[in-house]
Amino acid sequence: MARVYNFSAGPSMLPEPVLRQAAGEMLEYSSSGQSVMEMSHRSREYMDIIEGCEALLREVMGIPENYKVLFLQGGAATQFGMVPLNLLTGSGSADFMVTGQWAKKAAKEAAKLGKANVVASSEDETFSYIPGLDPAKCDPNADYFHICYNNTIYGTRFLAPPEVSVPLVADISSCILSEPMDVSKFALLYAGAQKNLGPAGVTVVIIREDLIGRAPANIPTMMGYKTHADNGSMYNTPPTYSIYIVGLVLQWLKELGGVPAIYERNREKAALLYDFLDQSRLFRGTVRREFRSLMNVPFVTGSEELDKKFVAEAKAAGLVNLKGHRTVGGMRASIYNAMPLEGVRKLVDFMAAFEKENG
Ligand SMILES: *Cc1c(COP(=O)(O)O)cnc(C)c1O
Repeated sequence: MARVYNFSAGPSMLPEPVLRQAAGEMLEYSSSGQSVMEMSHRSREYMDIIEGCEALLREVMGIPENYKVLFLQGGAATQFGMVPLNLLTGSGSADFMVTGQWAKKAAKEAAKLGKANVVASSEDETFSYIPGLDPAKCDPNADYFHICYNNTIYGTRFLAPPEVSVPLVADISSCILSEPMDVSKFALLYAGAQKNLGPAGVTVVIIREDLIGRAPANIPTMMGYKTHADNGSMYNTPPTYSIYIVGLVLQWLKELGGVPAIYERNREKAALLYDFLDQSRLFRGTVRREFRSLMNVPFVTGSEELDKKFVAEAKAAGLVNLKGHRTVGGMRASIYNAMPLEGVRKLVDFMAAFEKENG
């Protein structure tokens, strides 16, 4: 068996000990006589799994008591619509910072249900920076203020949450648990699991309790946060196996030393790659330095032909999925929590060798 280093933006690598444990428990979980996949979601064994997963997430993320944790389906993209369905119900207007494709999609979905007011955008320079915020442009009566904390496609991240006077909502799909985050600064956080948490299929929503129940009565039952909050994410069958794997990932993270430890490691990994890019005469990063993401690192050679050659040769060397997003071109290395330091070292060594041959 030769496992590759997978630099995909998502779904992405999972920690090997997690995969091994899941493999060991595939035919029989604990002494249940069955796989987690086969288990009733209402069985005692499964209740322990989902409750344990929530408790671990609360612990490693430091989620305050007055927040609910929901395990939903439909990916982060469903939240682009579910957030306005539930929250765009007061003034009917929300503020958006458009810092990439995902942030833009969130605004577009909200605009179907009310007013989506774009208060800042970095689209003028291909989303290569996080724009400043002019408080005069913000609506003090907005139902919420939406940001995408880490811009997966472009490789930028907020350095701190913006100071706003209305409920702050953030898409943290590609940075959840990668760095310390003060949950109390946010009203609602959401993340698809397949970048930093586990397999695709489960979406985590962390919502302050006072925001639950603002939805009109006529929205579909499954679209209401209240439905899921009132039923412990068990109104219908939750994505049981994905939640189980998320639990294993959280256990792995906790044993590693939690978010402070992984943050240290993530900074080391990112520094290795960015330091190489900064001294390279062939490769260069594509975003403004101060906003560089710790998770997604886009870079180019300046020649489409060389980019292509690089991606193909890297793949042959076991460094896969380095092709950049189709809207940016070039390369992108996604180095989420589960990417070992060794993987980034191998990538940098490979880039240095490629530069020597092609520079
Ligand atoms: C991947 C991603 C999405 C889309 O997630 P799905 O789970 O595929 O819907 C949305 N936002 C961000 C920031 C992402 O990285």
